Amino acid sequence: MTTPKDFDFFVIGAGSGGVRASRVAASSGAKVAVAESYRAGGTCVIRGCVPKKLLVYAAHFHEDFEDAAGYGWSVPQAEFSWPRLIEAKNREIARLEGIYENLLAKAGVNFMRGRARVVDAHTVEVEGKRHTARHILVATGGWPVKPDIPGAELGISSNEAFELTEMPRRVLMVGGGYIAVEFAGIFRGLGAEVTLSYRGSEILRGFDDDVRAHLRGQIEAKGIRVLLRNELTSIERHGGALRVRTSDVDISVDCDCVMFATGRMPNTAGLGLAEAGVALDENGAVIVDQYGQSSVPSIHAVGDVTHRVQLTPVAIREGQALANTLFNNRPTSVSHANIPSAVFSQPPIGTVGDSEEAAIQKYGRVEVYQAKFRPMKHTLSGRSEQTYMKLIVEPKSQKVVGVHMVGPDAPEIIQGIGIAVVAGLTKQQFDDTMAIHPTAAEEFVTMREKVLRGF
Ligand code: NDP
Repeated sequence: MTTPKDFDFFVIGAGSGGVRASRVAASSGAKVAVAESYRAGGTCVIRGCVPKKLLVYAAHFHEDFEDAAGYGWSVPQAEFSWPRLIEAKNREIARLEGIYENLLAKAGVNFMRGRARVVDAHTVEVEGKRHTARHILVATGGWPVKPDIPGAELGISSNEAFELTEMPRRVLMVGGGYIAVEFAGIFRGLGAEVTLSYRGSEILRGFDDDVRAHLRGQIEAKGIRVLLRNELTSIERHGGALRVRTSDVDISVDCDCVMFATGRMPNTAGLGLAEAGVALDENGAVIVDQYGQSSVPSIHAVGDVTHRVQLTPVAIREGQALANTLFNNRPTSVSHANIPSAVFSQPPIGTVGDSEEAAIQKYGRVEVYQAKFRPMKHTLSGRSEQTYMKLIVEPKSQKVVGVHMVGPDAPEIIQGIGIAVVAGLTKQQFDDTMAIHPTAAEEFVTMREKVLRGF
């Protein structure tokens, strides 16, 4: 007979995945505890997606004021206050944090503040106190990492970017992924001089090549200086500024802020997982099966700590699936295929399904439909920004296997289109759908000119 446990489910980390898993488990009658060392809500709510999107809105007003002139508005000289923005953002984040804590309390989840450590397969220690549980969930997320170069400690990560007391005037962004591109746009929109240094040949590795090139052109046109095949070699303090040397001997950059957006690694250090027999990969990620179970049957993991897909909605789904598996007698796995995603760059990207390159790898040949145009709004604003849209079709089945867009509202549009791609709809079914005019989205149902690729 097994000894009774303090809890049915002990969750470490009150972020997107942990909160969802604990609420679903508790609503199924499980006795649940959650330990959180920082703030309820996790990366997404406290220092990720949510505050980032608020900063993107803030940055966009710059262009909105300029564009208004083309529509007959006289806008007085606008002034921006970074401290006021950060204060307003902090208030909203505190409100959301409170909502998360309330949701947990209402669900009957025991919320513990403090750093947790796994002692063994059924025991967790929080601030010196031990608790036993039938199941343990590791939902500790990830943490930004910096390259190992002299002076790296002088640079910040996205964590600190949200808390800067002053808006930097000259920013060097390092990396070419989601965070680099998004924050480059934020700082540029708010008026900073921005240089983005990326080690590869084109930003946003893994995205469709046409999308990558198009977005780079757009952000360069907005004044972001993009250095490709460029790596930082050192950062030094020079008076009040930072001097950055790069792999290109001719390029050194003086700036006020170096921000590293060079990836995020699983948060497993000091958690006691390896000692408890949990298998970790070379990045420290918890290795799990399709149901979120680790090599120790009573220990599970969801979200960024598994280093598979680092996206909030995926962590939420994984948390929900795990709770259903463990407490609702419904083994559930989460498909990682066709996950729509967005980059909140300016203009933003929305994408679902395969890039052209991935589709050619999979299917050999693809049919491609594209559109590039000036958004209607800019006919009067005079802005030269261009929208790019692309459909990728598998020739035999005629299924639309990839849809990509760079342009205003792309994330909102692609969320809807994602349903069609997940449903496996064909190009003909897209074409059968009546357009909504005048919109940019209507291009997705009116594209007629086919280009063959990989043939
Ligand atoms: P990404 O993995 O997207 O990008 C990391 C970037 O840093 C890449 O360009 C990478 O280059 C570069 N890099 C990595 N290591 C080094 C190094 N040692 N020296 C120089 N450059 C390096 O990570 P982010 O930090 O941007 O974001 C983390 C994750 O969070 C994202 O992958 C995404 O899943 C998620 N996220 C999602 C958002 C959204 O949905 N809108 C927004 C923000 C984050 P290379 O390409 O050559 O490897």
